[in-house]
Amino acid sequence: MIADEGEYTCAVCGEQIVIPLDPSAGNNQTYTEDCPVCCHANVIHVAFDDDGGAQVWNSAE
Ligand SMILES: [Zn+2]
Repeated sequence: MIADEGEYTCAVCGEQIVIPLDPSAGNNQTYTEDCPVCCHANVIHVAFDDDGGAQVWNSAE
């Protein structure tokens, strides 16, 4: 089963944010998303592995 959601911890407010993942967009993705809690931009990194799992991590913009 391919992971279709992941979560990261906002670098600014510390909230855990659940995000939908799109495996069709590639095995390695980096994009900017505004935190829904504090509206600060986070850079989201997604890496899918061969088993369909996903690593999600973030860095402050
Ligand atoms: Zn936040």
